[in-house]
Amino acid sequence: MENLLGYTKNMLEDYFVNRGEKKYKATQVFEWLYRHGEYDIAKFSNIKKSIITTLQTDFTTDFIKIEKVLEGKDVKKFLFRLLDNEKIEAVLMEHDYGLSVCVSSQVGCNMGCRFCESGRLKKVRNLEAYEIVEQILLIQKHIGKRISSVVVMGIGEPFDNYDNIIRFIKIINDPKGLAIGSRHITVSTCGLVPKIKEFSNLDLQVNLALSLHGATDEVRNYLMPVNKVYNIDTVITTIKEYITKTNRRVTIEYVMLNMVNDRDSDAYNLARLLKGMNVYVNLIPYNATSIGEFQKSSQERIAEFGKILKQEGINVTVRREFGGNIKAACGQLRSESD
Ligand code: SAH
Repeated sequence: MENLLGYTKNMLEDYFVNRGEKKYKATQVFEWLYRHGEYDIAKFSNIKKSIITTLQTDFTTDFIKIEKVLEGKDVKKFLFRLLDNEKIEAVLMEHDYGLSVCVSSQVGCNMGCRFCESGRLKKVRNLEAYEIVEQILLIQKHIGKRISSVVVMGIGEPFDNYDNIIRFIKIINDPKGLAIGSRHITVSTCGLVPKIKEFSNLDLQVNLALSLHGATDEVRNYLMPVNKVYNIDTVITTIKEYITKTNRRVTIEYVMLNMVNDRDSDAYNLARLLKGMNVYVNLIPYNATSIGEFQKSSQERIAEFGKILKQEGINVTVRREFGGNIKAACGQLRSESD
């Protein structure tokens, strides 16, 4: 059996059409799930009995569970227990423009970035689309408010779970689904080139972020093993093609590590690499992990680094720090309990 909450409207339309039913039934199902929050298929009262029975034999609407909620200033971290007892985390952030959620895409992660806690546990499995959708549904229910933006920046490499991420995006973006606008959805990748190319062909209009973190192969090889497969030149060329094709601005994420990638020369190298591209750099203050190898760049250093980028004509912002004291910040999420 499959979980109904992992089906896009198109998939459901095909499902109904294949059974000789009208397409619009898919919309009715979506309205039950996402407008009324009704997950008991038996209660889909405008749908005839025979179809209810078919739906019940083909689908569950089982939910993952909130195991624990930790609260910090303007932030809540949710630990979820999946149906097979694996664990993941998601983070709710309150901004002045609304509520955003950072969802996980995998149990563990295989990318092995040196500065990131999430990869300490190697990938156990991909999350199914419904498990990503439900992170949002459960958080909305818990706080009684609507989520207005979503970032796929939790545990896992989304493009290593490509098909489920696309399903997830289509479900939350659907006007009859969670109706989260494409401009309010951001997917962040460590740079899986073939998937970035595939993504550029989809015309989804969502935001793409690239975790770059180094401006030379020497630095990036050290920090991110993925660079040995898709080096800086390859990934930047791919991002340029993506921008040309989609006409969309890309975010370049750059974690600021004291004396590792935060020197003036790194800023000049980064500026040279990105010159003329429709990107903006998001500098991320490093958050401590159990690995202990790195230190955070000072605020002054981050400001100075940003100033150089600006002088060189590169748009730059510094990421607001959320949830460090409850281990809910970038790079601190885990699939294991203490
Ligand atoms: N796998 C995806 C999604 C993770 S997004 C990716 O690599 O993009 C989370 C962002 O936080 C990434 O840019 C990641 O590199 C960054 N990050 C990881 N560990 C961090 C840490 N300890 N401090 C700050 N940022 C970190």
